[in-house]
Amino acid sequence: MGQRVNSHLVKCFTVHFLCLSRRIIVRAAVDLKKGDELFSSYTSSLLPTMLRRENLSLTKFFECDCARCADPTELGTNASSLKCTKCDLGVIKSTAPLGEFASIT
Ligand SMILES: [Zn+2]
Repeated sequence: MGQRVNSHLVKCFTVHFLCLSRRIIVRAAVDLKKGDELFSSYTSSLLPTMLRRENLSLTKFFECDCARCADPTELGTNASSLKCTKCDLGVIKSTAPLGEFASIT
């Protein structure tokens, strides 16, 4: 395996520990190139940005500013966005997800 496992989730993968054989198997949900970094999340990746960052601050004592947390669309997933009630296609999202007092558009 030529990849490194780091500290925050961008590419989905699972890790299996095989205790008896002392092996770790990492399975990625996307194609990887040799040297790509893998990031493991310290919090639930299903939480919206505000709650993930709050959880990380309270339990791991750091303010996360990873690519996903910094992106108002969460890397195009719009996982924290609200659906616009006036149209079926629009979303409402934070203008600056890392800012404490950011507005939403
Ligand atoms: Zn983050």
